[in-house]
Amino acid sequence: MEGCIFCNIASGETDTDVVVDREDMVAFRDINPQAPVHILIVPKEHITSIKEIEGEQCALLLDMFLLANEIAVDEGVAQSGYRLVINTGEDAGQEISHLHIHLLGGRFMKWPPG
Ligand code: AMP
Ligand code: ZN
Repeated sequence: MEGCIFCNIASGETDTDVVVDREDMVAFRDINPQAPVHILIVPKEHITSIKEIEGEQCALLLDMFLLANEIAVDEGVAQSGYRLVINTGEDAGQEISHLHIHLLGGRFMKWPPG
Protein backbone atom coordinates (compact mmCIF):
# COMPACT_ATOMS: atom_id res chain seq x y z
CA MET A 1 0.00 0.00 0.00
CA GLU A 2 1.42 3.39 -0.98
CA GLY A 3 2.71 5.43 1.92
CA CYS A 4 2.80 2.47 4.32
CA ILE A 5 6.22 2.25 5.99
CA PHE A 6 5.90 -1.50 6.67
CA CYS A 7 4.94 -2.19 3.04
CA ASN A 8 8.07 -0.25 2.03
CA ILE A 9 10.21 -2.28 4.44
CA ALA A 10 8.61 -5.53 3.22
CA SER A 11 9.50 -4.70 -0.37
CA GLY A 12 13.10 -3.92 0.59
CA GLU A 13 12.93 -0.22 -0.16
CA THR A 14 14.37 0.93 3.15
CA ASP A 15 17.63 0.56 5.04
CA THR A 16 16.19 -1.66 7.78
CA ASP A 17 17.82 -4.25 10.04
CA VAL A 18 16.02 -7.29 8.56
CA VAL A 19 16.37 -10.55 10.51
CA VAL A 20 14.29 -12.83 8.28
CA ASP A 21 13.01 -12.27 4.74
CA ARG A 22 10.53 -14.84 3.44
CA GLU A 23 8.17 -14.93 0.49
CA ASP A 24 5.15 -13.92 2.56
CA MET A 25 6.62 -12.19 5.62
CA VAL A 26 9.55 -10.24 6.94
CA ALA A 27 11.00 -9.73 10.42
CA PHE A 28 13.14 -6.76 11.39
CA ARG A 29 14.46 -4.98 14.49
CA ASP A 30 12.25 -2.28 15.94
CA ILE A 31 13.70 1.19 15.39
CA ASN A 32 12.85 2.13 19.00
CA PRO A 33 13.51 -1.07 20.96
CA GLN A 34 11.71 -1.56 24.28
CA ALA A 35 13.78 -4.61 25.27
CA PRO A 36 17.20 -6.04 24.34
CA VAL A 37 15.36 -8.18 21.78
CA HIS A 38 12.57 -6.29 20.00
CA ILE A 39 11.68 -7.64 16.59
CA LEU A 40 8.59 -7.06 14.46
CA ILE A 41 7.09 -9.89 12.41
CA VAL A 42 5.19 -8.44 9.46
CA PRO A 43 3.22 -10.01 6.59
CA LYS A 44 4.18 -8.69 3.15
CA GLU A 45 0.49 -8.38 2.33
CA HIS A 46 -0.96 -5.12 3.63
CA ILE A 47 -3.41 -6.11 6.36
CA THR A 48 -4.44 -3.16 8.51
CA SER A 49 -4.78 -5.01 11.83
CA ILE A 50 -5.69 -8.36 13.33
CA LYS A 51 -9.34 -7.22 13.16
CA GLU A 52 -9.22 -7.61 9.38
CA ILE A 53 -7.90 -11.19 9.41
CA GLU A 54 -10.15 -13.58 7.51
CA GLY A 55 -10.14 -16.80 5.49
CA GLU A 56 -6.73 -17.89 4.22
CA GLN A 57 -5.01 -15.13 6.18
CA CYS A 58 -5.58 -17.22 9.34
CA ALA A 59 -2.87 -19.61 8.15
CA LEU A 60 -0.56 -16.65 7.53
CA LEU A 61 -1.15 -15.42 11.08
CA LEU A 62 -0.29 -18.84 12.46
CA ASP A 63 2.92 -18.85 10.37
CA MET A 64 3.81 -15.44 11.79
CA PHE A 65 3.60 -16.88 15.32
CA LEU A 66 5.66 -19.90 14.33
CA LEU A 67 8.31 -17.59 12.86
CA ALA A 68 8.27 -15.55 16.09
CA ASN A 69 8.99 -18.75 18.03
CA GLU A 70 11.88 -19.59 15.71
CA ILE A 71 13.36 -16.11 16.05
CA ALA A 72 13.05 -16.34 19.85
CA VAL A 73 15.28 -19.44 19.67
CA ASP A 74 17.76 -17.73 17.33
CA GLU A 75 17.90 -14.64 19.56
CA GLY A 76 18.52 -16.73 22.68
CA VAL A 77 15.37 -15.80 24.60
CA ALA A 78 13.35 -19.01 24.17
CA GLN A 79 14.42 -20.32 27.58
CA SER A 80 14.39 -17.05 29.53
CA GLY A 81 11.00 -16.04 28.14
CA TYR A 82 9.51 -13.57 25.70
CA ARG A 83 6.33 -11.71 24.96
CA LEU A 84 4.39 -11.60 21.70
CA VAL A 85 2.19 -8.53 21.37
CA ILE A 86 -0.27 -7.35 18.73
CA ASN A 87 -1.48 -3.82 19.41
CA THR A 88 -4.89 -3.26 17.84
CA GLY A 89 -6.58 0.13 17.60
CA GLU A 90 -6.28 3.35 19.51
CA ASP A 91 -6.55 2.17 23.13
CA ALA A 92 -3.83 -0.41 22.54
CA GLY A 93 -1.56 2.25 21.03
CA GLN A 94 -1.33 0.84 17.51
CA GLU A 95 0.79 3.36 15.61
CA ILE A 96 1.37 1.58 12.33
CA SER A 97 -1.73 0.42 10.46
CA HIS A 98 -0.08 -2.68 9.04
CA LEU A 99 -0.43 -5.89 11.06
CA HIS A 100 2.67 -6.83 13.07
CA ILE A 101 3.65 -9.01 16.01
CA HIS A 102 6.11 -7.55 18.49
CA LEU A 103 8.62 -10.09 19.84
CA LEU A 104 10.06 -8.75 23.09
CA GLY A 105 12.63 -10.47 25.27
CA GLY A 106 15.95 -10.31 27.04
CA ARG A 107 14.69 -8.63 30.20
CA PHE A 108 12.08 -9.23 32.90
CA MET A 109 8.70 -7.73 31.97
CA LYS A 110 5.95 -6.73 34.34
CA TRP A 111 2.27 -7.50 34.00
CA PRO A 112 -0.10 -5.74 33.45
CA PRO A 113 1.51 -3.60 30.74
CA GLY A 114 1.27 0.19 31.05
P1 AMP B 1 2.55 -0.35 17.16
O1 AMP B 1 2.40 0.72 18.22
O2 AMP B 1 2.15 -1.70 17.66
O3 AMP B 1 1.88 0.05 15.87
O4 AMP B 1 4.11 -0.46 16.92
C1 AMP B 1 4.78 0.12 15.85
C2 AMP B 1 6.24 -0.15 16.09
O5 AMP B 1 6.93 0.09 14.87
C3 AMP B 1 6.89 0.75 17.15
O6 AMP B 1 7.48 -0.06 18.15
C4 AMP B 1 7.94 1.54 16.36
O7 AMP B 1 9.11 1.78 17.10
C5 AMP B 1 8.18 0.63 15.17
N1 AMP B 1 8.64 1.29 13.97
C6 AMP B 1 8.10 2.38 13.37
N2 AMP B 1 8.78 2.69 12.25
C7 AMP B 1 9.76 1.77 12.14
C8 AMP B 1 10.80 1.54 11.20
N3 AMP B 1 10.97 2.34 10.13
N4 AMP B 1 11.64 0.50 11.38
C9 AMP B 1 11.50 -0.32 12.45
N5 AMP B 1 10.52 -0.15 13.37
C10 AMP B 1 9.67 0.86 13.22
ZN1 ZN C 1 1.38 -1.82 4.64
